[in-house]
Amino acid sequence: AQAWVLTQHFHGFPTDSDFELRVEQLPEPRDGEVLLEAVFLSVDPYMSRVHMKEGEVMIGAQVAKVIRSSSPAVPVGRHVVGRCGWRTHTVCPAADLIPIMEDWPEEVSLSLALGAVGMPGLTALYGLEEVLGLQAGETLLVNAAAGAVGSVVGQIAKIKGCRVVGSAGSDAKVAFLQELGFDRTLNYKTVGSLDQALREAAPDGYHCYFENVSPLQLDTKIQVGGPFSSVALQQMKDFGRIAVCGGISLYNDTAPQTGPYPHLTMIFKQLKMEGFMQSRWEHKHPESLKRLMAWVKEGKLQCREHITEGFANMPAAFIGMLQGENIGKAIIKRSRW
Ligand code: NDP
Repeated sequence: AQAWVLTQHFHGFPTDSDFELRVEQLPEPRDGEVLLEAVFLSVDPYMSRVHMKEGEVMIGAQVAKVIRSSSPAVPVGRHVVGRCGWRTHTVCPAADLIPIMEDWPEEVSLSLALGAVGMPGLTALYGLEEVLGLQAGETLLVNAAAGAVGSVVGQIAKIKGCRVVGSAGSDAKVAFLQELGFDRTLNYKTVGSLDQALREAAPDGYHCYFENVSPLQLDTKIQVGGPFSSVALQQMKDFGRIAVCGGISLYNDTAPQTGPYPHLTMIFKQLKMEGFMQSRWEHKHPESLKRLMAWVKEGKLQCREHITEGFANMPAAFIGMLQGENIGKAIIKRSRW
């Protein structure tokens, strides 16, 4: 068994030398436990900000196959989603695992259980329904729109009969958003005046804003520049709603964020802003995953993935995702498959 461990806390942006591949000896599964073999592994933005001790295995979810079992509930051959970390093989209690739904269609890749029919898809759904209360006919703005969460956000909003404006960081991503049926798209890195572009995309303003990046987009590494949210908030309609889902441009900052927030805009436009984590609605996950899968089967939810082959390439895939290389969900596929 192999595992990627953290050699030192990320100081600023993660680098290759922060990770080390370690060989692990695994015990036999005891009563109620199973031995898993990873099939697909996920790299997600949150991994760069959760505090881990040096020498610990990197956290993360994977789709794995049960190859030995001492639990009748999860037999050999079953596929599961587990929070096993960056590991090729894991021994763990069967009770900690989420079995892949029994009627998972053969034609749908199991990797989607880490994306559109998994945690990112649930995040998109809850942000839109529980936090924003998005209604048909409304106009929605979403950033990091070509990513795992953002691409699902835009598509569900279209299913609900909304007008969707998406922002992403390359022309290829913008082309992808157009394929998905977004009404207006922009590349925030080349757009020039973000203010003007957002105004032109929705001259009457935005009812809802799904925020994935940060209030002040200050990343110097990719020279993003513009304070996206500060600009976006000026374009909200009165009584607009904002779901604060993520702040990826802040996760690798070495100092806490400072600086002005558009306070008066919040007051005068009477905006409502709510931060959330998808785990708040854990009790709804099984039913929500079925709804997401139904849209996939109907062809209403298209799922692009950015697949990196080989467990050895996990750190590179993670760093690449943080640098915006991915279109759709960033996934690692173990080479044996
Ligand atoms: P993505 O698949 O969207 O990948 C990350 C993308 O973020 C990159 O491709 C890049 O796209 C963009 N990005 C990276 N760095 C910057 C930067 N400095 N400034 C602006 N954009 C940047 O990731 P996810 O869909 O998995 O996650 C999206 C957001 O949602 C994250 O903030 C994540 O933490 C959050 N999240 C929150 C959850 C919750 O429960 N609240 C659950 C899951 C995710 P581009 O080229 O367009 O800039």
